Amino acid sequence: MNATRKLCPKCGYERTAEDDQTTPPEQCPNCGVIYEKALRAKSSPAGKRESGPITQAVASILMVVVFVIAAASLFSDDGADATTLPTSSAGFDEVDDEVGCGSDYSDEKRADIFRARYQDHWMTWPGTVVSSDNGEVDIDAGALGMSDLDVELSDPDEGYDLIDGEEVVIRFVMRKPGGCFIPFRGDMASIQ
Ligand SMILES: [Zn+2]
Repeated sequence: MNATRKLCPKCGYERTAEDDQTTPPEQCPNCGVIYEKALRAKSSPAGKRESGPITQAVASILMVVVFVIAAASLFSDDGADATTLPTSSAGFDEVDDEVGCGSDYSDEKRADIFRARYQDHWMTWPGTVVSSDNGEVDIDAGALGMSDLDVELSDPDEGYDLIDGEEVVIRFVMRKPGGCFIPFRGDMASIQ
């Protein structure tokens, strides 16, 4: 985390940590200007702007595109359409055998299988709590004594009373594949 907060060269607004949740890092949450562009406009003398009307039009179109992409990425991870994501009934052992540590397939085939069958799918796995910290729960789902599933709870408060070693059943949206040393990753998790 960067402790020094950004000042907007155009309006002087000081960026806060909350702003990082809602506004792209390169954009001022107060006046909407792209910091770098505001800096450039400031440094080049007003009479000698190298950007004519056409480049400015292109620039404003680009800004709209950047904004749309940023807005889309904000909603793609835990947007309202998550309920329509497909469900996979595969358990940890099955997934691990196909795409994880237990898989004998090539990396490319594992990635393809993961994308097709498990990524962005709702999954429900039993497991043992390894640790719970700020809504981030590490689960031993393969009974191998190690954390092989890390999930973000959709309600971080649900993690408050979890006890290390506790048996839980966790429902989550699978996001990233795990391997022998890295856990599977998911979010929107809840304890069943
Ligand atoms: Zn500003």
